[in-house]
Amino acid sequence: MINVDWRKELTQGSWAIRGECLIDEPLKNLNSWRVGGPADLLVRPLDVEDVHTVFAFIRHHRVPWRVLGGGSNLLIADKGVRGLVIQLSDMNRISQSGACQLTVGAGCPLSHLVQEAVRLGYAGFESLAGIPGTVGGAVAGNAGALGQQIADCLQSALVAENAAVERWVCDEFHFGYRSSAIGDKHMVLEVVFACERSEPELLREKVAAAREHRCQAHAVIGATAGSVFKNPPETQAWKLIDQCGLRGKSIGDAQVSEQHTNFIVNRGSATADEIAQLMALVQQTVMDQTGVCLSPEVHKMGDFDELLSRPDKHLLWDEERR
Ligand SMILES: Cc1cc2nc3c(=O)[nH]c(=O)nc-3n(C[C@H](O)[C@H](O)[C@H](O)COP(=O)(O)OP(=O)(O)OC[C@H]3O[C@@H](n4cnc5c(N)ncnc54)[C@H](O)[C@@H]3O)c2cc1C
Repeated sequence: MINVDWRKELTQGSWAIRGECLIDEPLKNLNSWRVGGPADLLVRPLDVEDVHTVFAFIRHHRVPWRVLGGGSNLLIADKGVRGLVIQLSDMNRISQSGACQLTVGAGCPLSHLVQEAVRLGYAGFESLAGIPGTVGGAVAGNAGALGQQIADCLQSALVAENAAVERWVCDEFHFGYRSSAIGDKHMVLEVVFACERSEPELLREKVAAAREHRCQAHAVIGATAGSVFKNPPETQAWKLIDQCGLRGKSIGDAQVSEQHTNFIVNRGSATADEIAQLMALVQQTVMDQTGVCLSPEVHKMGDFDELLSRPDKHLLWDEERR
């Protein structure tokens, strides 16, 4: 357990950074499911220099750390997160860095990038309109919609791996369907996109079409994290879940959405444990009835070990399947 004095060093001691440092900061309002406990220390670096200091601090004190983007694809444990949670919301600038190139801070909201690209007449992001979260989170999970994904325009990115900050080119990310080589030991700091030129008016129409499609297909009421499971090859997760009679199934205030069965809704006071238990139930039922093992698209942060070690509640995450 981390003691308070230890944490204060990053705010006012020899390791002081210019960015924000918040002790025992609640994370509930920083994720779209609106669940989870506090972070021992929530840190918001202002720039790469702050990031270097934070990593020197982490090395010195040997504490765990995780990156939080917009929290729109994340299940945060009820007990919260030990160590540091780093959020890059203050590293969010967009600049034109060459012919049809954009350099974007990882903390930039994806919606802002889409808007700015359209304004400049840069094509490649239109179908991503309406996806919540940050550019860093989108790169980590290769966010996409309607056949377009963030990887399509990515040229390179600055990635911190503990102390070292290196430039990765697109191939090094090994992008796949909602996946990349970015793991828990990496932090994407800044991304360079290479775009094609297009007419802003045409791009605006494509953005409007993408938003319209989203309104029709994803009209879910309540707090959600989007699709909970990845689509298995040749079928869709929502169809399997529906086929297994799980539409509307609930545990506590966590419910398989009535409108979109691959969404789990927090109807008000759901806990992260209830969401995890419902995910485990869906995964097990689909496995038993169809033989397909659904793989979570959402990530987890914090300690779920106690809950998920119970044989009747076991939920398989990707890292356990490898
Ligand atoms: C209503 C709704 C609709 C959605 N629709 C879509 C959709 O159409 N397509 C789609 O792909 N997704 C969709 N999502 C899911 C989500 O919005 C995306 O996955 C998004 O890209 C996650 O970004 P984030 O910043 O919120 O990441 P977070 O949820 O904060 O984090 C997700 C993971 O990425 C890691 N991460 C975050 N930032 C960084 C960083 N800078 N460096 C390294 N790792 C990082 C985190 O540690 C975590 O493991 C939807 C979600 C909601 C709530």
